[in-house]
Amino acid sequence: MTMSQQRMQGQPMIVLGEDSQRMKDEDAQGHNISAARAVAEAVESTLGPKGMDKMLVSSMGDVTVTNDGVTILQEMDIDNPTASMIVEVAETQEDEAGDGTTTAVAIAGELLKNAEELLEQDIHPTAIIKGYDQASEEARAQIHDLATSVDPDDEELLGSVAETSMTGKGAELNKELLAGLIVDAVKAVTVEADDGAYIADLEYVNIETQTGRSAGESELLEGAVVDKDPTNPEMPSEVTDAEVLLTDEPIEVDETDVDAELQLDSPDQLQSFLDSEEEQLREKVDAIAEAGADVVFCQKGIDDMAQHYLAKKGILAVRRVKKSDIRFLREVTGGSVASNLDEVDPDALGTADISRDAEDELFYVEGAGNHGVTLLLRGSTEHVVDELERGVGDALDVVATTVSDGRVLAGGGAVEVELASRLREFADGVEGREQLAVEAFADSLELVPRVLAENSGLDSIDTLVDLRAAHADGDEHAGLDVFTGDVADTYESGVVEPAHAKEQALSSATEAANLVLKIDDIIAAGDLSTEGEEDEGGPGGGMGGMGGMGGMGGMGGAM
Ligand code: ADP
Ligand code: MG
Repeated sequence: MTMSQQRMQGQPMIVLGEDSQRMKDEDAQGHNISAARAVAEAVESTLGPKGMDKMLVSSMGDVTVTNDGVTILQEMDIDNPTASMIVEVAETQEDEAGDGTTTAVAIAGELLKNAEELLEQDIHPTAIIKGYDQASEEARAQIHDLATSVDPDDEELLGSVAETSMTGKGAELNKELLAGLIVDAVKAVTVEADDGAYIADLEYVNIETQTGRSAGESELLEGAVVDKDPTNPEMPSEVTDAEVLLTDEPIEVDETDVDAELQLDSPDQLQSFLDSEEEQLREKVDAIAEAGADVVFCQKGIDDMAQHYLAKKGILAVRRVKKSDIRFLREVTGGSVASNLDEVDPDALGTADISRDAEDELFYVEGAGNHGVTLLLRGSTEHVVDELERGVGDALDVVATTVSDGRVLAGGGAVEVELASRLREFADGVEGREQLAVEAFADSLELVPRVLAENSGLDSIDTLVDLRAAHADGDEHAGLDVFTGDVADTYESGVVEPAHAKEQALSSATEAANLVLKIDDIIAAGDLSTEGEEDEGGPGGGMGGMGGMGGMGGMGGAM
């Protein structure tokens, strides 16, 4: 039978391989929506100050205890393609705003959940997508209208922004101290541009961590901190007004010479070989000294013999300094990184005062350029310090964003409830079925106060009713105070978030939801359903586990 005969008889032409699988229309949508929602639900319980932490155990057995949305999703080992699209929402949010990752993912999940109801009422995905786009654009315009401008010198407000971001995280216990350090750090690196805008450049803020002391002993230092020892005890450990050489080259015998095969016919030859190696090291050290360096921070190794020569010349040398530290030292000292140690350019040297904290075994490097500050975070153990670093890192981003963007919003669900109410009004003017999608978008935003209430052990419906009533009375800043359980003016109580992060969360959540809704056909080269890994109760039926979310299933007990 020829192909055209086959087609004429109404038989489908088969273009897919034997092992491939295909899912269309409602099946495909249902499948994708449940996969995306599974991801959103996995992080919802961490939202807000009363959210719980998750313990993530990697396949190597490494343990991470965290409350940070993007960290959870990255560690979860998700291999479902739709679920991965939602994880990307969190990653975009982290890159663009530094915080709000849980919110973005949870809203994306809720948008899809509400879209599913519309699909069941036979509303075409195109109408939903269009309505969601309209709603998202309107929401962003309303955010701008609702936001309060920030004076970059308003330390109290910036401190509140930092504290809001850290509440409920590992950083919470010392949030006042840490918020102060964060605001000072951001202020130290904020410059006013020609057009009057402020730019906080976090390139100049370095976070250094140390275990062994309490988080309350964290501090902000001018310049850099290098957590290393001098390579040789004969070296000085403190140098004021030092000329500093930074290098990413080892101070060792050139590798090519070591690798070359050595043919020795007499003991003299061995001696002359060793002499030539020694000579080479001596030349490198001489070049360093001649350039005028008093201190060397080396990213690679330093040969014992070279250490000895450096010490004899009174030069402090530190080896195996982290690459990121070398880069930061460049900002702090105003030098550049030398890659050729046979000829050291004196112009490459920077200047700094180097002092030693003998107890903590750290060098403090205070640069002449006064560029750059270091937040030295302390904590009792590695896990404590890691979670502290994540929380402080987010808060730093958030404060920097606030300074650069200059707008804040009332948190605790206040902005979401206000936006929902404004969007419902806006929906009245929207023609056609898109109107229902705009309303569904408004409902989706109210997920935030509902989950904040649930995570605090409060009744989410009561909370939402109270919040809606307050907003109907014109109280734009009415949000949930999770500590008292009451509706309060969250702006007044200092629960404030940067407007930019909220805008970003809404646009990336909308984009991801629309991306999922646009798919009506899944063609997979392999097997779609993974046996024994079915997603319980997911509306997508037995195929909810496409590709499997092995990581999640495996961790069920720990969550
Ligand atoms: P995300 O990853 O989205 O930043 P978080 O777990 O940090 O998630 O929670 C952020 C939410 O918690 C925001 O909606 C914020 O307004 C709210 N929030 C923070 N502090 C408080 C507080 N003290 N009272 C009520 N809500 C708060
Ligand atoms: Mg947060």
